[in-house]
Amino acid sequence: MKPYLKRAWAEIDLGKLKKNVEIIRGLNSPGTEIMAVVKADAYGHGYEHIVHTLAQDCGIRNFAVSNLDEAIAVRESAPQADILILGYTPPEYAHEISTNNIIQGVVSTEYALALVKNTPFPIRCHVKIDTGMGRIGLKHADPKDCAAEIAEMMKIEKLSVEGIYTHFAVADSDDPDNVAYTDRQQKYILDVDDALKASGISLRHCHFMNSAATCYRNTPRSTLSRAGIILYGLHPDMSLPIPDGLEPVMEVKAVISQVKTSQPGDCISYGRTFTVEHEMRIATVTVGYADGYSRLLSGKGEILVHGKRCKIVGRVCMDQLMIDVSDVPEAKSGDIVTLIGRDGDDIITADELASVYGTIGYEVVCGISKRVPRIYKEA
Ligand SMILES: *Cc1c(COP(=O)(O)O)cnc(C)c1O
Repeated sequence: MKPYLKRAWAEIDLGKLKKNVEIIRGLNSPGTEIMAVVKADAYGHGYEHIVHTLAQDCGIRNFAVSNLDEAIAVRESAPQADILILGYTPPEYAHEISTNNIIQGVVSTEYALALVKNTPFPIRCHVKIDTGMGRIGLKHADPKDCAAEIAEMMKIEKLSVEGIYTHFAVADSDDPDNVAYTDRQQKYILDVDDALKASGISLRHCHFMNSAATCYRNTPRSTLSRAGIILYGLHPDMSLPIPDGLEPVMEVKAVISQVKTSQPGDCISYGRTFTVEHEMRIATVTVGYADGYSRLLSGKGEILVHGKRCKIVGRVCMDQLMIDVSDVPEAKSGDIVTLIGRDGDDIITADELASVYGTIGYEVVCGISKRVPRIYKEA
Protein backbone atom coordinates (compact mmCIF):
# COMPACT_ATOMS: atom_id res chain seq x y z
CA MET A 1 0.00 0.00 0.00
CA LYS A 2 1.25 3.48 -0.88
CA PRO A 3 1.26 6.03 1.99
CA TYR A 4 -1.90 7.65 0.63
CA LEU A 5 -4.12 7.45 -2.41
CA LYS A 6 -3.06 10.07 -4.92
CA ARG A 7 -6.59 11.11 -5.78
CA ALA A 8 -7.28 14.35 -3.90
CA TRP A 9 -5.09 15.37 -1.00
CA ALA A 10 -4.07 18.40 1.08
CA GLU A 11 -0.43 19.26 1.68
CA ILE A 12 0.11 21.04 4.98
CA ASP A 13 3.40 22.93 5.23
CA LEU A 14 4.42 23.03 8.89
CA GLY A 15 7.43 25.19 8.04
CA LYS A 16 5.09 27.92 6.82
CA LEU A 17 3.01 27.55 9.97
CA LYS A 18 6.12 28.18 12.09
CA LYS A 19 7.04 31.20 9.98
CA ASN A 20 3.53 32.60 10.39
CA VAL A 21 3.84 32.22 14.17
CA GLU A 22 7.07 34.23 14.15
CA ILE A 23 5.44 37.00 12.11
CA ILE A 24 2.44 37.14 14.46
CA ARG A 25 4.79 37.29 17.47
CA GLY A 26 6.46 40.25 15.78
CA LEU A 27 3.10 42.05 15.61
CA ASN A 28 2.28 41.49 19.29
CA SER A 29 3.52 43.54 22.22
CA PRO A 30 5.93 41.79 24.58
CA GLY A 31 3.15 41.26 27.13
CA THR A 32 0.79 39.62 24.65
CA GLU A 33 0.98 35.89 24.04
CA ILE A 34 -0.53 34.02 21.11
CA MET A 35 -3.57 31.90 21.83
CA ALA A 36 -3.66 29.61 18.82
CA VAL A 37 -7.23 29.09 17.66
CA VAL A 38 -7.39 25.47 16.51
CA LYS A 39 -11.14 24.90 16.45
CA ALA A 40 -12.71 22.88 13.62
CA ASP A 41 -9.71 20.56 13.35
CA ALA A 42 -7.33 23.55 13.12
CA TYR A 43 -9.43 25.18 10.39
CA GLY A 44 -9.34 21.92 8.43
CA HIS A 45 -5.55 21.55 8.65
CA GLY A 46 -5.67 18.66 11.16
CA TYR A 47 -5.30 19.53 14.84
CA GLU A 48 -2.88 16.76 15.75
CA HIS A 49 0.15 17.87 13.71
CA ILE A 50 -0.77 21.55 13.96
CA VAL A 51 -1.04 21.51 17.76
CA HIS A 52 2.06 19.37 18.13
CA THR A 53 4.10 21.78 15.99
CA LEU A 54 2.71 24.86 17.74
CA ALA A 55 3.27 23.44 21.24
CA GLN A 56 6.57 21.59 20.76
CA ASP A 57 8.36 23.62 18.10
CA CYS A 58 6.90 27.11 18.56
CA GLY A 59 6.40 27.07 22.32
CA ILE A 60 2.74 28.10 22.12
CA ARG A 61 1.13 27.67 25.55
CA ASN A 62 -2.45 28.76 24.88
CA PHE A 63 -5.01 27.15 22.60
CA ALA A 64 -8.65 27.90 21.87
CA VAL A 65 -11.26 25.45 20.60
CA SER A 66 -15.01 25.44 20.08
CA ASN A 67 -16.09 22.48 22.19
CA LEU A 68 -15.12 19.82 24.71
CA ASP A 69 -14.34 17.07 22.18
CA GLU A 70 -11.85 19.37 20.48
CA ALA A 71 -10.41 20.42 23.84
CA ILE A 72 -9.76 16.81 24.87
CA ALA A 73 -8.17 16.06 21.48
CA VAL A 74 -5.89 19.11 21.83
CA ARG A 75 -5.03 18.09 25.41
CA GLU A 76 -3.48 14.85 24.04
CA SER A 77 -1.12 16.77 21.75
CA ALA A 78 -0.38 19.56 24.24
CA PRO A 79 -0.36 18.10 27.77
CA GLN A 80 0.87 21.32 29.45
CA ALA A 81 -1.15 23.92 27.54
CA ASP A 82 -3.95 26.19 28.67
CA ILE A 83 -6.94 25.21 26.53
CA LEU A 84 -9.96 27.52 26.38
CA ILE A 85 -13.35 26.36 25.12
CA LEU A 86 -14.80 29.44 23.40
CA GLY A 87 -18.28 28.01 22.93
CA TYR A 88 -20.93 26.15 24.88
CA THR A 89 -20.39 22.95 26.84
CA PRO A 90 -23.50 21.37 28.37
CA PRO A 91 -23.11 21.64 32.19
CA GLU A 92 -23.45 17.87 32.61
CA TYR A 93 -19.94 17.63 31.11
CA ALA A 94 -18.42 19.85 33.82
CA HIS A 95 -16.62 16.85 35.28
CA GLU A 96 -14.78 16.21 31.99
CA ILE A 97 -13.88 19.89 31.78
CA SER A 98 -12.24 19.85 35.21
CA THR A 99 -10.56 16.43 35.02
CA ASN A 100 -8.94 17.36 31.70
CA ASN A 101 -7.86 20.71 33.14
CA ILE A 102 -9.72 22.66 30.45
CA ILE A 103 -10.74 26.32 30.77
CA GLN A 104 -14.41 26.97 29.97
CA GLY A 105 -15.78 30.20 28.54
CA VAL A 106 -18.56 31.21 30.91
CA VAL A 107 -21.45 33.25 29.53
CA SER A 108 -23.60 33.93 32.61
CA THR A 109 -23.80 33.49 36.38
CA GLU A 110 -26.52 30.90 35.87
CA TYR A 111 -24.25 28.87 33.60
CA ALA A 112 -21.34 29.11 36.06
CA LEU A 113 -23.57 27.78 38.85
CA ALA A 114 -24.77 24.90 36.66
CA LEU A 115 -21.16 23.95 35.89
CA VAL A 116 -19.96 23.80 39.49
CA LYS A 117 -23.05 21.82 40.51
CA ASN A 118 -21.96 19.04 38.16
CA THR A 119 -18.46 18.38 39.45
CA PRO A 120 -16.72 18.10 42.82
CA PHE A 121 -13.56 19.61 41.28
CA PRO A 122 -12.69 23.24 40.52
CA ILE A 123 -13.72 24.69 37.15
CA ARG A 124 -11.27 27.08 35.52
CA CYS A 125 -12.98 29.74 33.42
CA HIS A 126 -12.71 32.96 31.46
CA VAL A 127 -15.87 35.06 31.54
CA LYS A 128 -17.17 36.02 28.12
CA ILE A 129 -18.58 39.51 27.70
CA ASP A 130 -20.88 40.43 24.83
CA THR A 131 -19.68 43.89 23.81
CA GLY A 132 -21.36 43.96 20.43
CA MET A 133 -21.06 40.62 18.68
CA GLY A 134 -24.56 39.68 19.89
CA ARG A 135 -23.63 36.04 20.23
CA ILE A 136 -22.72 34.88 23.76
CA GLY A 137 -21.62 36.51 26.99
CA LEU A 138 -22.61 38.81 29.83
CA LYS A 139 -24.54 41.82 28.61
CA HIS A 140 -25.01 45.02 30.59
CA ALA A 141 -25.45 48.58 29.42
CA ASP A 142 -22.87 49.77 31.96
CA PRO A 143 -19.45 48.10 32.18
CA LYS A 144 -19.51 48.71 35.95
CA ASP A 145 -22.53 46.38 36.26
CA CYS A 146 -20.63 43.82 34.26
CA ALA A 147 -17.65 44.09 36.62
CA ALA A 148 -20.00 43.79 39.60
CA GLU A 149 -21.48 40.56 38.23
CA ILE A 150 -18.01 39.15 37.65
CA ALA A 151 -16.97 40.11 41.19
CA GLU A 152 -19.99 38.17 42.48
CA MET A 153 -19.18 35.19 40.25
CA MET A 154 -15.72 35.09 41.79
CA LYS A 155 -17.34 34.20 45.10
CA ILE A 156 -18.82 31.00 43.65
CA GLU A 157 -17.15 28.07 45.31
CA LYS A 158 -15.00 25.91 43.03
CA LEU A 159 -15.19 28.46 40.21
CA SER A 160 -11.78 29.80 39.30
CA VAL A 161 -12.15 32.97 37.20
CA GLU A 162 -8.83 33.50 35.42
CA GLY A 163 -9.81 36.07 32.84
CA ILE A 164 -12.35 37.98 30.81
CA TYR A 165 -12.68 38.18 27.04
CA THR A 166 -14.81 39.51 24.25
CA HIS A 167 -15.04 39.04 20.50
CA PHE A 168 -14.97 41.73 17.81
CA ALA A 169 -17.57 41.71 15.05
CA VAL A 170 -15.95 44.00 12.46
CA ALA A 171 -12.25 44.31 13.27
CA ASP A 172 -11.58 43.22 9.67
CA SER A 173 -12.97 46.45 8.22
CA ASP A 174 -11.42 49.90 7.77
CA ASP A 175 -14.77 51.59 7.24
CA PRO A 176 -14.82 54.46 9.79
CA ASP A 177 -18.18 53.41 11.18
CA ASN A 178 -16.94 49.88 11.75
CA VAL A 179 -13.68 51.12 13.26
CA ALA A 180 -15.71 53.23 15.71
CA TYR A 181 -17.83 50.17 16.54
CA THR A 182 -14.73 48.13 17.34
CA ASP A 183 -13.32 51.04 19.37
CA ARG A 184 -16.49 50.95 21.47
CA GLN A 185 -16.26 47.18 21.94
CA GLN A 186 -12.65 47.53 23.06
CA LYS A 187 -13.40 50.43 25.39
CA TYR A 188 -16.18 48.44 27.01
CA ILE A 189 -14.03 45.46 27.97
CA LEU A 190 -11.20 47.71 29.12
CA ASP A 191 -13.69 49.61 31.28
CA VAL A 192 -14.75 46.29 32.82
CA ASP A 193 -11.11 45.40 33.44
CA ASP A 194 -10.44 48.82 34.98
CA ALA A 195 -13.53 48.58 37.21
CA LEU A 196 -12.40 45.17 38.43
CA LYS A 197 -8.92 46.51 39.13
CA ALA A 198 -10.43 49.48 41.00
CA SER A 199 -12.18 47.02 43.30
CA GLY A 200 -8.93 45.16 43.87
CA ILE A 201 -9.51 42.31 41.40
CA SER A 202 -6.64 41.74 39.01
CA LEU A 203 -7.27 38.88 36.63
CA ARG A 204 -4.49 37.13 34.76
CA HIS A 205 -6.19 37.60 31.41
CA CYS A 206 -8.20 40.21 29.55
CA HIS A 207 -8.26 39.39 25.84
CA PHE A 208 -10.08 40.59 22.77
CA MET A 209 -7.77 40.43 19.75
CA ASN A 210 -8.67 38.05 16.94
CA SER A 211 -6.63 37.79 13.72
CA ALA A 212 -7.99 41.04 12.31
CA ALA A 213 -7.31 43.00 15.49
CA THR A 214 -3.83 41.45 15.69
CA CYS A 215 -3.12 42.73 12.17
CA TYR A 216 -4.84 46.12 12.21
CA ARG A 217 -5.26 47.32 15.79
CA ASN A 218 -2.81 45.45 17.95
CA THR A 219 -2.91 46.67 21.54
CA PRO A 220 -0.82 45.69 24.56
CA ARG A 221 -3.88 45.63 26.84
CA SER A 222 -4.96 42.31 25.32
CA THR A 223 -2.98 39.66 27.21
CA LEU A 224 -3.64 37.16 24.43
CA SER A 225 -4.03 37.47 20.69
CA ARG A 226 -6.49 34.79 19.64
CA ALA A 227 -5.00 34.17 16.23
CA GLY A 228 -6.97 31.88 13.98
CA ILE A 229 -7.04 32.51 10.26
CA ILE A 230 -3.68 34.33 10.04
CA LEU A 231 -1.93 31.34 11.61
CA TYR A 232 -2.97 29.46 8.50
CA GLY A 233 -1.87 32.34 6.27
CA LEU A 234 -5.29 33.51 5.08
CA HIS A 235 -7.08 36.89 5.20
CA PRO A 236 -9.66 37.84 7.84
CA ASP A 237 -11.22 39.82 4.99
CA MET A 238 -10.09 39.98 1.38
CA SER A 239 -10.44 43.77 1.23
CA LEU A 240 -7.45 44.38 3.51
CA PRO A 241 -3.90 43.10 3.01
CA ILE A 242 -2.33 40.95 5.70
CA PRO A 243 1.20 41.56 7.03
CA ASP A 244 4.05 40.67 4.71
CA GLY A 245 5.38 37.16 4.90
CA LEU A 246 2.24 35.39 6.09
CA GLU A 247 1.71 32.47 3.74
CA PRO A 248 -1.05 29.90 3.28
CA VAL A 249 -0.22 26.63 5.02
CA MET A 250 -2.57 24.37 3.02
CA GLU A 251 -2.44 23.36 -0.62
CA VAL A 252 -4.95 21.00 -2.23
CA LYS A 253 -4.10 18.81 -5.19
CA ALA A 254 -5.68 16.13 -7.34
CA VAL A 255 -4.83 14.29 -10.55
CA ILE A 256 -6.07 14.09 -14.11
CA SER A 257 -7.75 10.74 -14.72
CA GLN A 258 -8.38 11.15 -18.45
CA VAL A 259 -7.97 13.65 -21.28
CA LYS A 260 -10.31 13.66 -24.29
CA THR A 261 -10.84 15.73 -27.39
CA SER A 262 -14.42 16.98 -27.56
CA GLN A 263 -16.21 18.08 -30.70
CA PRO A 264 -18.76 20.86 -31.25
CA GLY A 265 -22.14 19.77 -29.92
CA ASP A 266 -20.70 17.52 -27.18
CA CYS A 267 -22.11 18.19 -23.69
CA ILE A 268 -20.13 18.11 -20.47
CA SER A 269 -21.42 16.90 -17.08
CA TYR A 270 -24.82 16.77 -15.37
CA GLY A 271 -27.56 19.02 -16.60
CA ARG A 272 -25.82 19.70 -19.94
CA THR A 273 -24.94 23.18 -18.75
CA PHE A 274 -21.88 23.26 -21.02
CA THR A 275 -21.94 22.52 -24.75
CA VAL A 276 -18.68 22.38 -26.70
CA GLU A 277 -18.59 25.03 -29.46
CA HIS A 278 -15.26 24.33 -31.09
CA GLU A 279 -12.92 21.39 -30.74
CA MET A 280 -11.35 21.39 -27.28
CA ARG A 281 -9.39 19.16 -24.94
CA ILE A 282 -11.22 18.26 -21.76
CA ALA A 283 -9.48 16.76 -18.73
CA THR A 284 -11.33 14.96 -15.96
CA VAL A 285 -10.00 15.65 -12.45
CA THR A 286 -10.35 13.38 -9.43
CA VAL A 287 -12.01 15.80 -7.05
CA GLY A 288 -15.60 16.87 -6.40
CA TYR A 289 -17.95 18.48 -3.96
CA ALA A 290 -17.71 15.51 -1.58
CA ASP A 291 -14.08 16.54 -1.11
CA GLY A 292 -15.17 20.04 -0.18
CA TYR A 293 -14.57 21.54 -3.60
CA SER A 294 -17.86 23.41 -3.83
CA ARG A 295 -20.43 22.69 -6.51
CA LEU A 296 -20.90 26.48 -6.61
CA LEU A 297 -17.60 26.55 -8.53
CA SER A 298 -19.30 24.83 -11.49
CA GLY A 299 -18.41 26.70 -14.68
CA LYS A 300 -16.53 29.32 -12.63
CA GLY A 301 -13.53 27.93 -10.78
CA GLU A 302 -10.04 27.58 -12.17
CA ILE A 303 -7.41 24.90 -11.56
CA LEU A 304 -3.67 25.10 -12.19
CA VAL A 305 -2.30 22.56 -14.66
CA HIS A 306 1.42 22.81 -15.45
CA GLY A 307 1.31 26.34 -14.04
CA LYS A 308 -1.57 27.47 -16.28
CA ARG A 309 -5.13 28.30 -15.25
CA CYS A 310 -7.77 25.96 -16.68
CA LYS A 311 -11.47 26.71 -16.34
CA ILE A 312 -13.99 24.24 -14.95
CA VAL A 313 -16.52 23.30 -17.61
CA GLY A 314 -19.98 22.10 -16.65
CA ARG A 315 -21.05 21.08 -13.19
CA VAL A 316 -18.76 19.89 -10.42
CA CYS A 317 -19.81 16.30 -9.60
CA MET A 318 -19.55 14.51 -6.26
CA ASP A 319 -16.15 12.96 -6.98
CA GLN A 320 -15.01 14.39 -10.31
CA LEU A 321 -15.00 17.52 -12.41
CA MET A 322 -13.95 18.53 -15.90
CA ILE A 323 -11.63 21.34 -17.02
CA ASP A 324 -10.64 22.84 -20.34
CA VAL A 325 -6.99 22.00 -21.03
CA SER A 326 -6.99 23.13 -24.66
CA ASP A 327 -4.12 25.54 -23.88
CA VAL A 328 -2.06 22.94 -22.04
CA PRO A 329 -1.07 20.43 -24.74
CA GLU A 330 1.19 18.50 -22.36
CA ALA A 331 -1.69 17.70 -19.94
CA LYS A 332 -2.18 13.95 -19.64
CA SER A 333 -3.64 11.26 -17.42
CA GLY A 334 -1.81 11.03 -14.08
CA ASP A 335 -0.67 14.66 -13.98
CA ILE A 336 -0.97 16.45 -10.65
CA VAL A 337 -3.16 19.57 -10.68
CA THR A 338 -3.45 22.32 -8.07
CA LEU A 339 -6.85 23.37 -6.73
CA ILE A 340 -5.44 25.52 -3.95
CA GLY A 341 -1.79 26.52 -3.90
CA ARG A 342 1.13 27.44 -6.08
CA ASP A 343 2.14 25.89 -9.40
CA GLY A 344 4.95 27.65 -11.20
CA ASP A 345 4.45 31.40 -11.19
CA ASP A 346 0.75 31.30 -10.42
CA ILE A 347 -1.14 30.72 -7.20
CA ILE A 348 -4.78 30.10 -6.35
CA THR A 349 -5.46 30.79 -2.68
CA ALA A 350 -8.38 29.58 -0.60
CA ASP A 351 -9.28 33.28 -0.28
CA GLU A 352 -9.45 33.65 -4.07
CA LEU A 353 -11.53 30.51 -4.46
CA ALA A 354 -13.87 31.77 -1.74
CA SER A 355 -14.41 35.05 -3.54
CA VAL A 356 -15.38 33.21 -6.74
CA TYR A 357 -18.44 31.72 -5.07
CA GLY A 358 -19.21 34.32 -2.44
CA THR A 359 -17.77 32.96 0.77
CA ILE A 360 -14.61 33.40 2.87
CA GLY A 361 -11.34 31.49 2.96
CA TYR A 362 -12.30 30.18 6.43
CA GLU A 363 -15.18 28.17 4.95
CA VAL A 364 -13.06 26.82 2.10
CA VAL A 365 -10.33 25.35 4.32
CA CYS A 366 -12.74 24.13 7.02
CA GLY A 367 -14.79 22.51 4.28
CA ILE A 368 -12.05 20.33 2.79
CA SER A 369 -13.64 17.05 3.77
CA LYS A 370 -12.41 14.10 5.82
CA ARG A 371 -12.00 12.03 2.67
CA VAL A 372 -9.05 14.22 1.66
CA PRO A 373 -5.90 12.97 3.42
CA ARG A 374 -3.70 15.63 5.01
CA ILE A 375 -0.02 15.18 4.12
CA TYR A 376 2.43 17.02 6.36
CA LYS A 377 5.74 18.47 5.23
CA GLU A 378 8.31 20.91 6.56
CA ALA A 379 9.84 22.26 3.35
C1 LIG B 1 -12.88 31.81 15.84
C2 LIG B 1 -12.62 32.78 16.91
C3 LIG B 1 -11.40 33.47 16.94
C4 LIG B 1 -10.40 33.43 15.81
O1 LIG B 1 -10.87 34.20 14.74
P1 LIG B 1 -9.91 34.52 13.49
O2 LIG B 1 -10.64 35.52 12.72
O3 LIG B 1 -9.75 33.22 12.76
O4 LIG B 1 -8.64 34.98 14.07
C5 LIG B 1 -11.13 34.27 18.04
N1 LIG B 1 -12.03 34.38 19.05
C6 LIG B 1 -13.23 33.75 19.03
C7 LIG B 1 -14.18 33.93 20.16
C8 LIG B 1 -13.56 32.93 17.96
O5 LIG B 1 -14.74 32.32 17.94
